[in-house]
Amino acid sequence: ILDEPWDAIGRVGWVPPSQGGPKLEFEVLRAWSPPRITRPTASSAQLMVPGLDIIGDVHGCSTELDALLAQLGWSREGQSGHWSHPEDRMVVFVGDLTDRGPDSIGVLLRAVTMVDQGQALLVRGNHDDKLLRWLQGRSVELKHGLETTVAEFEDLTHDQRKALTQTATTLIANSPLWATWHAPQGLIGDPELVIAHAAWSPDVPRWPLGRARAYCLFGPTTSTPSPDGLPQRLDWRQRYPTRGPSCVFGHSPFQGPVQWYRNTLALDTACVFGHRLSALRWPERDVVQVDARAPYAEPRRPLEPTPPYVLEPMEETPMNDTDANLQLGPDAAFELRLDRLLESLHRQPEAILSRIDGDAMLLKREGVTPHGQTMVIVNASKSLFTPQHTHQLYAKGLVYTREPWRPVSIPFLKIYNLGERDDTRALAVELSRQEGVTAHFNDKLDGTMVQSCCIASQVVLTTRGTFDLADPATSGFDYLGEARRLLHTQSPGALDPDQVQGRTLLWELIHPESRLVTDYGDRKALILTGAVDHRDREPRYVTRSELEALARSPGGCGKRPKSPREPHPSPGSS
Ligand code: MN
Repeated sequence: ILDEPWDAIGRVGWVPPSQGGPKLEFEVLRAWSPPRITRPTASSAQLMVPGLDIIGDVHGCSTELDALLAQLGWSREGQSGHWSHPEDRMVVFVGDLTDRGPDSIGVLLRAVTMVDQGQALLVRGNHDDKLLRWLQGRSVELKHGLETTVAEFEDLTHDQRKALTQTATTLIANSPLWATWHAPQGLIGDPELVIAHAAWSPDVPRWPLGRARAYCLFGPTTSTPSPDGLPQRLDWRQRYPTRGPSCVFGHSPFQGPVQWYRNTLALDTACVFGHRLSALRWPERDVVQVDARAPYAEPRRPLEPTPPYVLEPMEETPMNDTDANLQLGPDAAFELRLDRLLESLHRQPEAILSRIDGDAMLLKREGVTPHGQTMVIVNASKSLFTPQHTHQLYAKGLVYTREPWRPVSIPFLKIYNLGERDDTRALAVELSRQEGVTAHFNDKLDGTMVQSCCIASQVVLTTRGTFDLADPATSGFDYLGEARRLLHTQSPGALDPDQVQGRTLLWELIHPESRLVTDYGDRKALILTGAVDHRDREPRYVTRSELEALARSPGGCGKRPKSPREPHPSPGSS
């Protein structure tokens, strides 16, 4: 208020003393200072400090922490006095203060003091979270480093232990899952920076607490563990929006240089494993580091030059058709959302298509367009009944080019035969509970799935892992020829390139020669069951009403049968 021009204050109805208004109590105004941290939600904190010193996973390395704080310009009056910095700054710990290192209690005491004095914020890490549960007397396994912190607690006197249990519990229980920072002039709108322990996404604030918590503390992982039994961390950074806030995180130790990648910065430079403790000065973007004095622990897996993320494991895992191989982790339903998969295929076509291309469990067939371009269509081998790796979810029926890696026709995603295994029901329920998700499960009778799309100005039909462009089938029923003949009769518009351009249409072929379980007599039909629209840059599934409109349009595909359920839908067809 003191900095406001008088006329601005006058406009809001306040009369200055020079014009007869009341005399201001200036002392009171000067004593008031804005809060440095607010808590807009229970899960998040908003930092309102001009500068931050963000510190990576400390894991009990108090000597290195002291050296780093000193290098950042922080000093302390005596052993337990006030921490201060010549500038208006705040320390933000990305989480994991304790475990594995030599002096977890020393690190906790420093963090408690700095946070109490309003000079620091702890963003909660998975190790902090587990320590909190131990401090609260809940049952936790004393491993992955927690045993070292517990041993330190056990060496304390009764009174020391009681006091530290209380302060550390308060510290961690009040730590947010993520913190945001706005430039001093930009408090309205999106933050410019987010700090979270393992991962973050602009969707996190809209998620239920359980999902947000799992994502921030552990990050997304693959549904199958790696051969060493550890969860494989998904590279969430690959799909982190470059226009979103910058994101700083820890959690995944690595040995290489600290580098920005897609607007994200990893800060856990493996101090406890003998590498370095790192800090980021924000908004200056300077990285400050101190070397570890010694390796204090052995990493569970070899350290890598960058955070050890994988898109998905490429190793062949043993096939077991009786097991549900794709285990449903906390993020499974989210990761399996069709819109999510389409989005990641759109964002990282090369990463996904090259994995599909190199996967021996996926059968590929090539064809050549009239313009001489090679197309590849994918099908799954019989032994791949249930997808085991994320990229396999995209694969069935996908048509792509190799150079450049580009999807040409995007099929519906073949996840499971719904309801065939218990876990698919759980998945369907979980999917239907997802915010923003409307689930439609298409009726399929007992036919064969056929796709049509436009490739090089030609309508191409695909089915059973082959397409019109490939060599004609040498034996058996000519599915594609018959599908084409049926389209000619029932909906010729669907063979018009102008009508089909930019869409993948999914049909079910009912034919006496293509009889799997149910006998439909002599009935022959192609039934439109869905469509993907990729005319815009972002591909999307069309809604039910759009599909119905499409079916009635000149490019559409005729009518649905009057009684689609006769005689019985076969279990487990698709
Ligand atoms: Mn850590």
